[in-house]
Amino acid sequence: MGNITFTMIKPEAVEAGYTGAILSRIESEGFRIVAMKKVHLTPERAGNFYAIHKERPFYNELVEYMSGGPIIAAILEKDNAVADFRLLIGATNPAEAEEGTIRAEFAESLSKNAVHGSDSDENAIIEADFHFSHAERF
Ligand code: ATP
Ligand code: MG
Repeated sequence: MGNITFTMIKPEAVEAGYTGAILSRIESEGFRIVAMKKVHLTPERAGNFYAIHKERPFYNELVEYMSGGPIIAAILEKDNAVADFRLLIGATNPAEAEEGTIRAEFAESLSKNAVHGSDSDENAIIEADFHFSHAERF
């Protein structure tokens, strides 16, 4: 396996029916889907996933949101996967996201911003391992 990143399509984007359109963007930008599943995170699992933000004022809101409905979790492979995927999704706040990015097109707000993307190679591996066994990767 080459360079990987980890993504989630967040609950409000799944609920809005954007899963197919977002996955189509991802594949057409040259990312290969290594693993994928739809899962409803418990508050505990969502809290553990975002534990790095535990001290932030928006942590409780974030955990409630991410456990509020099913998400699509996926491992993506491409050269320079982490940086290229952050470019494809755009800024955290969709109001600041470049035109043509996934968040500019599909995000609702700063907190409900449609997709997650890993911020480093190290975290991509941690996040992929959080959601997928090695037998689930192809
Ligand atoms: P992600 O980690 O989901 O890819 P990100 O790396 O662009 O997003 P982070 O700073 O890691 O941004 O924040 C994690 C998530 O927490 C954001 O995607 C957003 O859903 C939420 N969030 C971030 N900042 C705020 C804020 N100021 N108010 C409310 N929610 C926020
Ligand atoms: Mg982040």
